[in-house]
Amino acid sequence: CGIVGYVGNREASEVLLKGLKRLEYRGYDSAGIALVNGGLHFNKGKGKVDALAKKIKQSGLEGHLGIGHTRWATHGEPNDINSHPHMSESGNIAVVHNGIIENYTTLKKQLISRGKTFHSQTDTEIVAQLLEEIYTTSRGVSFEQAIQLTLKQIVGTYGLAIVNKDMPDKIFIARKGSPLLLGIGENEMFIASDASPIVGYTNKVVYLDDGEMATITKDSYSVKTIEDVELTKEVHELAISI
Ligand code: GLU
Repeated sequence: CGIVGYVGNREASEVLLKGLKRLEYRGYDSAGIALVNGGLHFNKGKGKVDALAKKIKQSGLEGHLGIGHTRWATHGEPNDINSHPHMSESGNIAVVHNGIIENYTTLKKQLISRGKTFHSQTDTEIVAQLLEEIYTTSRGVSFEQAIQLTLKQIVGTYGLAIVNKDMPDKIFIARKGSPLLLGIGENEMFIASDASPIVGYTNKVVYLDDGEMATITKDSYSVKTIEDVELTKEVHELAISI
């Protein structure tokens, strides 16, 4: 339902939680965040963003890069395990997703037959599992290329934000049928499914179009198509005053 992401010098959990609060108006049943900070840490569950914020405060979860999600369940009941982010088997990759993966049953069966264990009932979990399988078993394939290969197998709609424990300065996003934009700050970048989490931080934004993906660090971004064609995107000014 809602996606937010941050990389920069601020405390990421604060930016993410504030962003998730601003996305609450869309409605949701669960919320969660993942931070990369040495390892990949996450906290998620059924219920309100305020409850998540309390848990995160207690756990002392900190970092400068992370992604967050408010879920409106489509596949799998609203519960803690089905909440996003979803992890790959090794726990190295975290994924948040808006939309519906229509062929997830087929992909899930294939992954199970190859020995993967699933924890949730969601369509989303296959993205984390398939991506890790492709990335770890294909020789010489970059993480970006592994994302492209994963997306080529997916039928359906997605706004995706992905982080990898071993790439602690990068957020990867991709879009098909589910909006995503990038907010460009000074030594910081934001991502979100609509402008509301970005307002107040920067008014410079780039809108992803269907079939596009981006790799984001705190001071750079590169956008390409799923077919690996590099793009120069127009930077828009948000009409909202900050
Ligand atoms: N289909 C996914 C799920 O049910 C994402 C739902 C959403 O867009 O929030 O978990």
